[in-house]
Amino acid sequence: MNHLETGDDKKASVSTINRRQALSATAGLVGVALAPRLPAPIPPRQLRIWAFGDAHVGTDLAEGRQSLAIALQQSEQGDDEGAVPFEWDFAINVGDLSGAHESPTDDEGREVVRQYAVLRNHPREAVYDICGNHDRNAVGEPEAEWFRRWIDPLGEHPETSGVDVRNRPYPIEGTWERYRFRVGNLLFLMMSDRNEPTQTIGRGALGGNPAGVVTGETFEWWKQQVLEHPDAIVVSAHHYVLKNTTVASGDWEGFEKDEHGNWKSKFHGYYPEGTPRGASYLYWVNSQEDSGAFERFLSEHPGAVALWLGGHTHAQPNARVGNKTHIETRWGTHFLNVCALTRYHVRRTSRPMSRLLTFTEGSPLVVVQCYLHTKDFALRGWYRKAERTLMLPKPFRWDT
Ligand SMILES: [Zn+2]
Ligand SMILES: [Zn+2]
Repeated sequence: MNHLETGDDKKASVSTINRRQALSATAGLVGVALAPRLPAPIPPRQLRIWAFGDAHVGTDLAEGRQSLAIALQQSEQGDDEGAVPFEWDFAINVGDLSGAHESPTDDEGREVVRQYAVLRNHPREAVYDICGNHDRNAVGEPEAEWFRRWIDPLGEHPETSGVDVRNRPYPIEGTWERYRFRVGNLLFLMMSDRNEPTQTIGRGALGGNPAGVVTGETFEWWKQQVLEHPDAIVVSAHHYVLKNTTVASGDWEGFEKDEHGNWKSKFHGYYPEGTPRGASYLYWVNSQEDSGAFERFLSEHPGAVALWLGGHTHAQPNARVGNKTHIETRWGTHFLNVCALTRYHVRRTSRPMSRLLTFTEGSPLVVVQCYLHTKDFALRGWYRKAERTLMLPKPFRWDT
């Protein structure tokens, strides 16, 4: 590196050394006229995705708490009780904005839109939403009418939702039930929960009717997208995780037994006429109960899907139920339960929290941090003990 200290060849020399060499070369040259000429270090470009879910806006509002607005404001501005703000490029909301046990109402829809409007540094459209079981309309009503009018991923009803798809940082393709978007070499496959078409009694009469549902068409679409994009890092999102992945996602693990040995509600409302066995996971696919369709595909294509984001089961950051935590890896796929923002919907187990995923250009590692929105569990802000670093099947790249 001595040649850096002398004469006319220094420009050429600088252009042929890498950043590390340049930094070590300048370490001993502080104050020397040459130092300012070196190129400024360029930090690796990062992508920060905020993942949250289960705000259950109406439930918390009834207790005087704005579960969605508080989290949005904390993320942008922090608060005066020690919560720190953080940077995010866009967000994924895995559903259950509503807290209704019957069909969600227009009043609650307006309230969700009002709470979303507290965003100052991001457009509303920087949040990509999917439908949770509480966002569904009751059986017999137009499918997903409330979700489409008030949450509106496609911008079909701007007069109610305020969503203008031209403001999406990354454009989406698809329907309210299933859509995709790309960010660099990441491919996001977003699937909404819906009413099971063969059920004549379900959502509404059976409350939230827990047990996740997608149609055969959605499953086929998902499979095709995964198979057609082996070059991509695939991220799936649904309100539910798959069976036997994260906290309480096994058969019957959404409930507990009373002193007489009968099932009762725990993480989910217990409705014996529904399908309580599968209340905590994506149970119905193509009208097949406990179909195993996604799980089978992933076991036959290990690593084809890098991440699966879900929510639905609200539990504290260190929860372990059925020997499963909130972040688990199966079939080469990392499953993340990223909920819940609510404090009062299933108040016994809900501790408001969310996750931040940080991808770095050229790196196969994604860092997953846990953010606590209240002091119910620990200090507000980053909860270090729940932080994880996960390996992706390939490095993240902005250019594809
Ligand atoms: Zn929920
Ligand atoms: Zn749910």
